[in-house]
Amino acid sequence: MSDPCLDTLQRVFGYDAFRGDQRRIIEHVVQGGDALVLMPTGGGKSLCYQIPALVRSGTGVVISPLIALMQDQVDALTELGVKAAFLNSTQEWSQTRAVEQAFLAGELDLLYVAPERLLTDRCLDLLARGSIALFAIDEAHCVSQWGHDFRPEYLGLSFLAERWPDVPRIALTATATTETRQEIAERLSLQQAEHFVASFDRPNICYRIVEKKEVRRQLLHLIKEEHPGDSGIIYCLSRSRVESTAEFLVKEGIHALPYHAGLGTEVRAENQARFLREDGVVMVATIAFGMGINKPDVRFVAHIDLPKSIEGYYQETGRAGRDGEPATAWLAYGLQDVVQHQRMINDSLGNETHRYNQGRQVDAMLALCETVSCRRQDLLAYFDQAIEPCGNCDTCLSPPECWDGTVAAQKMMSTIYRLWRERGQRFGAGHIIDILRGKDSERMRSYGHQSLTVFGIGNELTEQGWRGVLRQLLALGMVAVDTQGYGTLMLTEASRAVLKGERSLSFRRETTVANKTASRTRSSAPRVVLPPEAQQRFERLREWRASVAKEHGVPNFIIFNDATLRQVALEQPQNFDDLRCISGIGVRKLQSYGTDLLACISE
Ligand code: ADP
Ligand code: ZN
Repeated sequence: MSDPCLDTLQRVFGYDAFRGDQRRIIEHVVQGGDALVLMPTGGGKSLCYQIPALVRSGTGVVISPLIALMQDQVDALTELGVKAAFLNSTQEWSQTRAVEQAFLAGELDLLYVAPERLLTDRCLDLLARGSIALFAIDEAHCVSQWGHDFRPEYLGLSFLAERWPDVPRIALTATATTETRQEIAERLSLQQAEHFVASFDRPNICYRIVEKKEVRRQLLHLIKEEHPGDSGIIYCLSRSRVESTAEFLVKEGIHALPYHAGLGTEVRAENQARFLREDGVVMVATIAFGMGINKPDVRFVAHIDLPKSIEGYYQETGRAGRDGEPATAWLAYGLQDVVQHQRMINDSLGNETHRYNQGRQVDAMLALCETVSCRRQDLLAYFDQAIEPCGNCDTCLSPPECWDGTVAAQKMMSTIYRLWRERGQRFGAGHIIDILRGKDSERMRSYGHQSLTVFGIGNELTEQGWRGVLRQLLALGMVAVDTQGYGTLMLTEASRAVLKGERSLSFRRETTVANKTASRTRSSAPRVVLPPEAQQRFERLREWRASVAKEHGVPNFIIFNDATLRQVALEQPQNFDDLRCISGIGVRKLQSYGTDLLACISE
């Protein structure tokens, strides 16, 4: 075969062409080069090491931190007729022995190993006695100490370069900033490696950021109106919020499950397995969930708390729509999120630099929330990639109105300044807004605040309107949470120019109920629609797939993904030759399932 890489892609995986940089990466590694690959989730990273492992002689050793997913990864390869196995702590001794022997006999194409396992004497010794095609270091950003996925064992992996200088190494991640990339290159001794940085755009994901009002109702609306029966992930900041949100959704008839680090290992494994195996499960989770989850048909990712950084947000939302079909990334955030984040940073341990970094990351996240330009443009700019306005985010689909908020900002700032002088007390946002709106109450009089000059000067805005002003001032860094004492709100240096009238401010208009409904229908992700008869065939194929998957004890998508079944339903192949032309049907799957597929559509 003149082109072994392309041949493998078509024969084993059933795809007709490489995507993006895949070919260059694969050929580079096949020729023995080291590579650092940055590609968004769903970009097709796995093939970048799986194909070289098949083409080169010896076994490809894949280092992956995700023990719970190794079984699925190996099952998926086995379905393709690839000889794969894993070594990790969940195995019985006899299984370990069998895998080791298969490796030594040169029978394995791919071997998955957890990093802590790899660095044991026994494992290094085993590897030294076999033949290795390459090392693939998956989720390479785990080596980064500032990231939330840091795994200390990853720091030991630079050792591979010393011990096996002639074996190519390929590190892969979906984390995109230049800083993280440099950190990975340094810590894994990949400075000499060729870097492949793909476009991070995920055009099929519709990004939407909404103002938090009644977040549970908003969430329910998103699920019931836009994503009924779809798989999705809902991210919350705390364990208790995960629990209460999952409970609420279950009561509302949604198939929701909780996931956070406080649940027992078994519960977590079980919930994860159900998410992967059953259709239409909504996982309510902390960020402990999701890395390496290769479920292709997650249709929405919702955040009901503000993520800590754009990097995190991008990775989490990236778990939607890996199959390339329309998906939604939805975030609800409000004033309280901003205040809470600042408090958390102030209270966090660690040195000044660490706090500064955290603060900077939240600031970037807030700027994204408050932007009046294309969300995707802002997101990608954060990763140093420039694009035109996308047409598939809320600000593109229904551009927000702006208003001159200079005077309102001055009023808000004056009030904050007055209260700051009484900083023995902690006055929350609600009290500040009550003063502006001139609310006469017991509490107000007990502080004597009804006699402040700012009392009642802000009747032109509703309470919600003022919350919007304050939120945007916090996002702009003109108001901050006091780092000492009571966490009162205070003015920053940046506010001076506005107070003096030297700088004017333009704010996003808070959406009113009326135009919210209008924008909702316009800005939601389109759904894939098949003609009615094809839809019926598709449903039959899905039923067939579910029964096969159950029999084999694997997630549905490991048998075939939706896109493949949809193509079968649409094109109605008549024989094996027709089936061969469908994306996602390779030699092995044709043998195993060809007859069933033909029978299923001729019914
Ligand atoms: P990543 O690891 O980068 O998140 P995967 O390797 O899981 O992405 O690939 C995402 C999906 O795209 C998978 O279903 C994979 O089979 C599919 N895919 C990858 N490369 C190709 C290709 N060249 N043609 C068609 N589908 C592909
Ligand atoms: Zn856009």
